[in-house]
Amino acid sequence: MGKYQFEPTVMRELERLRVPLAVYQFLEKRVVTIMLSDGFCELFGFDDKNEAYYMMDNDMYRDAHPDDAPRIADEAFRFATEGGKYEVVYRTLTNRRDSYKIIHAIGEHVYTDDGVRLAYVWYTDEGSYTTEQDTRRKLVNEAFRRALQKESLIKSLSYDYLTGLPEMSYFFELADEWRRPRLARQETVALLFMDLCGMKYFNRKYGFAEGDNMLRRFANILKKEFSNENCSRFGSDHFCVFTGAADYKEKLESVFEQVRCAKDGKMLPVRVGVFIDTDGSLDISAECDRAKYACDTMRNTYLSRFRVFDDTMLRRTETTQYIIDHLDKAIAERQIEVYCQPIIRSSDGEIGDVEVLSRWNDPDRGMLMPNDYIPVLEKARLIYKLDLYMVERVLARLKQRGEDGLRVVPVSVNLSRTDFDVCDIVEEVRRLVDLAGVDRELINIEVTESSVGEDFEYMKAQIERFRELGFRVWMDDFGSGYSSLHVLQSIRFDYIKFDMSFMRGFDRGDKSKIILTELIRLAQALDIDTVCEGVETEEQVNFLRNAGCTRMQGYYFCRPIPLPKMLEQFSKE
Ligand code: C2E
Ligand code: CA
Ligand code: CA
Repeated sequence: MGKYQFEPTVMRELERLRVPLAVYQFLEKRVVTIMLSDGFCELFGFDDKNEAYYMMDNDMYRDAHPDDAPRIADEAFRFATEGGKYEVVYRTLTNRRDSYKIIHAIGEHVYTDDGVRLAYVWYTDEGSYTTEQDTRRKLVNEAFRRALQKESLIKSLSYDYLTGLPEMSYFFELADEWRRPRLARQETVALLFMDLCGMKYFNRKYGFAEGDNMLRRFANILKKEFSNENCSRFGSDHFCVFTGAADYKEKLESVFEQVRCAKDGKMLPVRVGVFIDTDGSLDISAECDRAKYACDTMRNTYLSRFRVFDDTMLRRTETTQYIIDHLDKAIAERQIEVYCQPIIRSSDGEIGDVEVLSRWNDPDRGMLMPNDYIPVLEKARLIYKLDLYMVERVLARLKQRGEDGLRVVPVSVNLSRTDFDVCDIVEEVRRLVDLAGVDRELINIEVTESSVGEDFEYMKAQIERFRELGFRVWMDDFGSGYSSLHVLQSIRFDYIKFDMSFMRGFDRGDKSKIILTELIRLAQALDIDTVCEGVETEEQVNFLRNAGCTRMQGYYFCRPIPLPKMLEQFSKE
């Protein structure tokens, strides 16, 4: 079913009416304008009828008071989907566009001879809306406001209160409906996910009210370019748009240009992720996820730009999903293995400690390395499961060796920053260790320098809790971030582990050596022990020993190997 057309003679008669009347049709889940009378154009201040048609189809509520637009859009939606009568009171800009007048709209559905349902809506002018001192008018306006409030309390809105754009779930329906005929015609469509750059900073600088105004202005730019029903705000400063793939680039360029030229400069640049849909096989929400993924790859950009979701991103998202979906199974079926790397005492070359590192041996995908899954699990805030599993596996082994009367050395486990957010990791580790009856001094907790920098006071408190319970805490990757010395000054660590980059810089000149020498001296003065990781050559070993580094770790001594293999190898010696 396409857009309905009146017979030309009927159309002429209707258009000529002095009564403000509009005829709409609900098509592909949106309101399409069929006819506007002369009276309608006069009431709403359109000199040109073509402009009126264009406006009604693309930004129907442009002139409505922003507080009223979502409510009337919602009522129109209810009327279109559930039928019954349409009746709303709202404010719209006067022809001079400097104040509002009150409009009362009433609508009913009428069926044409060929069974097409049309909505006839007629409008009356209820006078001007003012907030001035005129007491009688003010009373009217009070009543108006009360009526409005009552209405909006009852209805759950399908439109965003701030921008008047469709809400997310309604947007999904709209987009789905919109793409279907286009894909059937072999056209491709594009889904755009938009993220304004620096919203937090903007709010801090100008305040939330200005922030809201800016979001409205941005929404208006989108409406003008793509039309109201093709856009949505996904909370805060995220927007989604669907449009034809043929000309989305030109439209985006135009959006970028308008953002750049916004008057008074109070507008933020926007990053846009694009998903091109050629066959409609994905849910709209999944398409939004992919567009967002493409958008997030530009996180560090503060310029208006767009990027299209491509095959590499697809493979990466699939892997991400695979990892998240299979973590529990991998843990339950022990596909995640415990690898160990000895940490050598500089004084006598003996193993002082052992660091455990995970390896995910997946039955389908082979051996996955930490770099493949650690960042994914950290982002999904699921890494605590892996970390606690590693602790459990380590404890079982320590307990066994203790019972067998064999030598044990302390074991270092890695904890990620989100472990401290999603559970009480200090308490979880303590519970497991005590349950196994293992000495707390046998577990070293490694936390990276960068994870301490985030919410510093909180992390400081957690590290102190670990230490008070008798665990040793090591600062991992020291020197890789910006806050090393500040952290060292404020938090007591048992060990600092120098980041591998020092060893990598070793061949490139003396600077690395000078810095490392001084850092070791500094740690000694603070009575903190030092480890250097990534040690690969004899030259490095000699240097570190002379500089007074307490422990060393690296391929020079041993690569990370499976736990049983290590026990075998080192008990022989
Ligand atoms: P990390 O804690 O800094 O661990 C040291 C990494 O350097 C390990 O990589 C190790 O295999 C590698 N390495 C050791 N010696 C040398 C060397 O001489 N040369 C070179 N080039 N590399 C060396 P791996 O095992 O791939 O782990 C990478 C990172 O993943 C680890 O960095 C750690 O932050 C994280 N990770 C691994 N397992 C776990 C885990 O179970 N939980 C958490 N939270 N993180 C883990
Ligand atoms: Ca580590
Ligand atoms: Ca490290």
